[in-house]
Amino acid sequence: MTTALAEAELAPLDAAREILRRTFGHQAFRGLQEDVIAEVLAGRNALAVLPTGGGKSLCYQIPALVQPGLGLVVSPLIALMTDQVAGLVQSGVAAARLDSNIDLDERAHTWRRIERGELDLLYISPEGLMQPSMLDRLSRTPLSLIAIDEAHCVSQWGHDFRPEYRMLGRLADIFPGVPRLAVTATADARTRDDIRAELRLEDGREFVASFARPELILSAERKRGNLEKRIVELVTARPDRSGVVYAGSRDKTESLAEALRGAGVPAVAYHAGLEKSVRARRLEEFLEADAAVMVATIAFGMGVDKPDVRFVIHADPPSAIEAYWQEIGRAGRDGDPAEGITLYGAADMVWALRRIAERDMDEVAKQGQAKKVRQLYAMLDGVGCRAASVRRYFGEEGVEACGQCDLCLGTVETTDATVPAQKALSAAHRLNGRFGRGRLVDHLLGKTKEPSDWETSLSTWGVGQELSAQQWRELTEQLLFEGLLREDPNDGRPLVGVGDADAVRAVFRGERRIAMRKASGRESERRPRKRGRETAPDLGEADRALFEALRTWRTAEAKSQHVPPYVIFHDRTLAEIAAAKPALRAALERINSVGEAKLAHYGEAVLKVVGGFAA
Ligand code: ADP
Ligand code: ZN
Repeated sequence: MTTALAEAELAPLDAAREILRRTFGHQAFRGLQEDVIAEVLAGRNALAVLPTGGGKSLCYQIPALVQPGLGLVVSPLIALMTDQVAGLVQSGVAAARLDSNIDLDERAHTWRRIERGELDLLYISPEGLMQPSMLDRLSRTPLSLIAIDEAHCVSQWGHDFRPEYRMLGRLADIFPGVPRLAVTATADARTRDDIRAELRLEDGREFVASFARPELILSAERKRGNLEKRIVELVTARPDRSGVVYAGSRDKTESLAEALRGAGVPAVAYHAGLEKSVRARRLEEFLEADAAVMVATIAFGMGVDKPDVRFVIHADPPSAIEAYWQEIGRAGRDGDPAEGITLYGAADMVWALRRIAERDMDEVAKQGQAKKVRQLYAMLDGVGCRAASVRRYFGEEGVEACGQCDLCLGTVETTDATVPAQKALSAAHRLNGRFGRGRLVDHLLGKTKEPSDWETSLSTWGVGQELSAQQWRELTEQLLFEGLLREDPNDGRPLVGVGDADAVRAVFRGERRIAMRKASGRESERRPRKRGRETAPDLGEADRALFEALRTWRTAEAKSQHVPPYVIFHDRTLAEIAAAKPALRAALERINSVGEAKLAHYGEAVLKVVGGFAA
């Protein structure tokens, strides 16, 4: 807090507040921003862990503007850099990027600006930065700070490991005395330790924000029946909104997008296999649309900051809770309610574990990643508040239930299924890992076609009359999630056997009870739709017309500049303008996110649109 700061640090912090207001148009710092900024302004290293949408970028952008010299921002993806630089330029900040897409002329121009001390922020990739010639040039340039964005990429415990991030530890020696700030949305303690060690931030303070995202309404369901049909159902139940559907493979993104288009949804596919120009065009289409659906592999998204994404649907589950929170977190960045819906199955878990086992990695790291997979499925298939599970996973304490996820709304009822579980485990044990799940269920029901004498002689033959085939399928799936059953992929014809011996014994002894979900319908539709408001929050009929007019103006302006509309103004800002109806520049300036540069560029045009509605 400011009172604890030395006298000398007060002045830069005042300057920081001034820049927040004048350049970025925000009234006050949020959450830990001020603390992190004060630390960097005092010349110290730090690690800041803020949730997606928590305002990480201002933590380094503002100190770079306050202090003399160039601020370096290391970022893993070009899309991320492009968006941030475009946004900064709109706000009148001298920012540029140097990446493989920048041509020689522009490169030379950027270097001239650096040499003349005209540039405040330079975005660069880790491999670009660590080139000897680049380091040499930069070592002759006064630097204000080095920010390392998405810092979890340095950790092989993380879910986004990028070997080239490992080189960044050397920055400590190459630029001694330049404060280094690592920022990420990944908070788990082990990854944090790794970031500090690898990036040589041992002496730096750690700032960890709350991971609450109260605007996100979470739900998850086991995959059942035809996946494509289910996705179409989910998306068409949410018409006229922007959304992202994540799928596990390139082919699947294409086929899902096609199915959605067939149902009248403006959907496009996006994955790393597309030609660069196609990808860029589809991304642009999505970003500029008021309502569009992007069906993508995880190659899409990092750094895509479309604020009005109203839902993220995982057609295939993410890789870990970190990835879950990051991917779901792309919804609702404007702070308005948004949904995260995840489809998952035991087969997905088995496949994920298998992939880890096959990876060329040391054993300890493999175990760490396998544990992350299990923790993800424990959350997805669990019965406690989803948001609370995630926040606890990230190490938050005293977390309360969100009150709005499917599990909080109490749509999942459970019954005691310890005895059926004992039967299933016992049968799996007797069948000795020789058959798949379907056969296990048939065996329990005594329905195996042409059973052998051996099978009918087993004591578990036909003992499962109390449950239907569907219920047995669900129970065996749950036992897989809990590690009580285990599946051997067996080249696509998985065989089921008993899992962890101690845990299975505990179930046999009745020490561990099994609560099974009661057969439930699809939760995602049954939810009361009171939160299903559209992009513009809380606007009356009259204000809505003005809001739409402002959007029309913004679309035209964005087109003429070839930038996404939200780098000009967010929906949320336009909604605030529509509600406040400023008649004068001074009133417009008071609206959140309207900084000096935007006022200068767009003030007149916006006031004119508002004026048209004044009569
Ligand atoms: P992330 O942490 O995901 O990188 P960003 O830095 O992109 O988040 O910020 C998310 C959004 O929050 C942006 O639209 C930004 O303008 C807004 N924002 C950041 N700080 C503030 C603040 N102090 N007051 C109001 N809005 C803010
Ligand atoms: Zn909840």
